[in-house]
Amino acid sequence: MGKNITHGLWEATAPARPQLDSLQGAHKTDVAIIGGGYTGLSAALHLSKMGRESILLEAEDIGYGGAGRNVGLVNAGLWLMPEDVLQLVGSEYGEKLIRILGASPDLVFGLIKEYGIECEALRNGTLHCADSKSGYKALRQREEQWLKRGAPVRLLEREEAAVKTGSTSFFGALLDKRAGTVQPLAYAYGLAKAALKEGAKLYNHSPVTEFDKISDGWRLTTPRGTLTAKSVIIAVQGYAEYAFKEYQKNLVPFNFFQFATPPLPEKILKTILPERQGAWDTNLILSSYRLDAAGRLIVGSVGMVDGFAWDIHENWVKRTIEKTFPQVGETPLDYGWYGRIAMTTNHIPRFHLIEPSVAIVTSYNGRGIGPGTVFGKLLAEYMAGGSQKDIPLPVTKIDPVGFRNLRGLFYEAGARLYHFVQRRI
Ligand SMILES: Cc1cc2nc3c(=O)[nH]c(=O)nc-3n(C[C@H](O)[C@H](O)[C@H](O)COP(=O)(O)OP(=O)(O)OC[C@H]3O[C@@H](n4cnc5c(N)ncnc54)[C@H](O)[C@@H]3O)c2cc1C
Repeated sequence: MGKNITHGLWEATAPARPQLDSLQGAHKTDVAIIGGGYTGLSAALHLSKMGRESILLEAEDIGYGGAGRNVGLVNAGLWLMPEDVLQLVGSEYGEKLIRILGASPDLVFGLIKEYGIECEALRNGTLHCADSKSGYKALRQREEQWLKRGAPVRLLEREEAAVKTGSTSFFGALLDKRAGTVQPLAYAYGLAKAALKEGAKLYNHSPVTEFDKISDGWRLTTPRGTLTAKSVIIAVQGYAEYAFKEYQKNLVPFNFFQFATPPLPEKILKTILPERQGAWDTNLILSSYRLDAAGRLIVGSVGMVDGFAWDIHENWVKRTIEKTFPQVGETPLDYGWYGRIAMTTNHIPRFHLIEPSVAIVTSYNGRGIGPGTVFGKLLAEYMAGGSQKDIPLPVTKIDPVGFRNLRGLFYEAGARLYHFVQRRI
């Protein structure tokens, strides 16, 4: 069993990581970017494509945060249904947000093609699976709302869902043809290599520990260097371990783990997600199911796999595979890992302007591959002289969430209890 509980399978199967120096000495640039996940990398890539100078500083390694740990579902749109998005942000931003994020897989798969990024990319759609009658009803609503907007989605009845998933556990499933899957860490490495190719400068092991306003812009301090810049993009999401903790106060920490089997025999693989869609269910404590390129079944759900929680969640995964995909039989698990999702209380991402020259778009609520890539591009355009109105989110203040750590603990404890008791009979 691989005990790399942070990046697990993705680190084991990603291509070579980009070799980057750490920042040393004094540097100057046009736009400083803090954080080497999808948002920061996409911003660096697109600034370079526009002929703008930028320097990206990553605290650890590229993809250290959510980008190197996630499920790899390249979803179209947010978790929320389109009509809920409209209610929450209003029609001025809402329809644009729905349209831009609905098309975000186009940007992701377009960049993968343009730069030849090797990341197990597949665009066969995703399956949102109903694990109850009420889940099925909600999917019907979701289908209606997307069809109204011309999206290629289709609700599958129970029998067809069983064929597409390889499981009789679901009441139906919503197939979304816009979406697909990637090896998430490999996609982050690919974006980094594309940004370097376009002339961006990227540094690893360069945590920004201080951030000060100076007469002609901003000064960022790392353990061995300084960077001055006219403007700054802060793209640290839920991984603000070195600085920017005050910007995290409007997020609720929410962990999600995954376990992967060894590659499954060809005969069994033909029966599980045979078209290789990535899948997840409608349960409040949701589960995800996907295969990787080598044919490993990867099952995920809410919680962290630190300490004794490992056994609770690992045993739950084994029981889940037995009940949901009985054709697999008893199987060992080769990898287990988890990451922190940046959630907001209303599930809408946030756009903050600390000053007009310091921008943050954060909290993709577990959907960051498409949104991170898109918002990175939009932030690059804004910093290159575009209007803030082109970013389809209202600018909000950082409103601290009351009892945020307690809420996080509540989710964690709830997931452990649920996984401890579920699927025992
Ligand atoms: C377990 C899990 C499953 C998920 N599943 C999916 C999924 O299937 N599909 C999907 O679309 N999204 C998914 N997500 C969400 C997605 O991973 C994130 O939304 C996405 O990674 C956000 O990208 P980002 O670049 O904004 O932030 P991140 O990828 O988190 O990157 C932030 C980076 O900032 C760096 N950093 C922090 N502080 C500093 C500092 N002071 N100085 C320099 N660098 C700093 C961190 O080290 C980190 O590398 C999932 C997330 C998790 C954790």
